[in-house]
Amino acid sequence: MSRDALIVGGGPAGAAAAIWLARAGWPVTLWEKERHPAHKICGEFLSWEAQTWLARLGLDLEALGAVSIEKLRLVTATRSAVSGLGFVARSVTRRALDAALLEIAMQAGADVQRGISAREVKPDGAVVASTTLVRPANLLLATGKHDLRGIGRPGEGTLNGQLGFKAYFRLTPAERSALSGHVELILFQGGYAGLQMVERDAANLCFLVSPERWKRLGGDFTALLADLSAEVPHLGQRLAGAVPLLDRPLAISGVPYGFLHRPVKGVAEPGWRLGDQAAVIPSFTGDGMSLALHSARLATEALLTGAGQGAYYRRLAKDAGGAVRRAAWLQRRSDDGLWRDRVAAVLALAPGLMRVGVGFTRLGRGAVGRALAV
Ligand SMILES: Cc1cc2nc3c(=O)[nH]c(=O)nc-3n(C[C@H](O)[C@H](O)[C@H](O)COP(=O)(O)OP(=O)(O)OC[C@H]3O[C@@H](n4cnc5c(N)ncnc54)[C@H](O)[C@@H]3O)c2cc1C
Repeated sequence: MSRDALIVGGGPAGAAAAIWLARAGWPVTLWEKERHPAHKICGEFLSWEAQTWLARLGLDLEALGAVSIEKLRLVTATRSAVSGLGFVARSVTRRALDAALLEIAMQAGADVQRGISAREVKPDGAVVASTTLVRPANLLLATGKHDLRGIGRPGEGTLNGQLGFKAYFRLTPAERSALSGHVELILFQGGYAGLQMVERDAANLCFLVSPERWKRLGGDFTALLADLSAEVPHLGQRLAGAVPLLDRPLAISGVPYGFLHRPVKGVAEPGWRLGDQAAVIPSFTGDGMSLALHSARLATEALLTGAGQGAYYRRLAKDAGGAVRRAAWLQRRSDDGLWRDRVAAVLALAPGLMRVGVGFTRLGRGAVGRALAV
């Protein structure tokens, strides 16, 4: 097998694959469309599994100023409940994290080319960018949620109607101290928010809302925050006196939550799908990055050993399929207000059950342990 690879996309999946292939001595080129490190829509919660992979890649979260999170606070309009996570999560901006991973990829010998946006994949595997066309021996697709022309995803995923937003705030000292050490999962009609601290004393508010709500509020972000705060006073309290740190929020639509790639038997695909190109777990799990890194590990292992794409996708489905399905089921159910209120009432009485829910919707230590052992 020819030992060179083109990786399209320099998020966690693409960067991790570049590091592992370059460390194995493969000539690797990586194209990342952003010319400079950029903010991304993400809650920036790093699960135990994600941290394990990042450590294996040589990333020093302390050096990036990552904060620690030990507790989960579930908040609805009328209730809140707190539970230990069962592990110490970390949180750091994606701008810092992704840049650091690409730096490690370069140090490992990968040729990281920023500012190159792939446009299309031809049926023979040739990849077209604005000024170039290449035919890599091995193509790895790590472009995240959005597809390249010519290699769209068969199947839509199950839940893709919501809009996603992310903004950073400087909270008042009292609210910052109340939030510190917690990730807050805030449930409201038609969506939910994650709120947590990141480095440099900034708070990350990342949420999904229904397009109807956004439309009803005239597509005005300030009005949307006021509307959400009126429904969930806890959010209003956190944001009272807060200063926005970005000129405008980041936004995304059409995320194919619940998607898990299943190749059609006998049909050769021109590229290996990694990260969100292979599986999209609902955001409330805070496990998308761990899945992205896990998929990069499984795919590069299959490439290096010659096990092939079929073996890679079977393994990924075995490791991640259950968590993706369970999380998609829970996300669908949370749209039902009555169900949401009942669950919140039970969790307020028995907050320890939240830890069970957290374990139920993540990749799991067993899967990571098995992949690490290879
Ligand atoms: C609202 C929301 C909240 C989330 N919160 C969390 C969380 O708290 N914790 C967590 O672990 N996960 C979270 N996730 C999921 C997580 O962000 C993704 O699962 C993860 O980023 C996937 O990594 P990736 O490398 O596959 O894709 P991405 O991180 O999306 O990276 C793709 C890269 O490819 C580049 N690219 C795209 N198209 C091209 C192109 N044509 N040519 C060249 N480059 C290209 C992009 O610029 C980007 O750098 C969240 C997701 C959403 C939507």
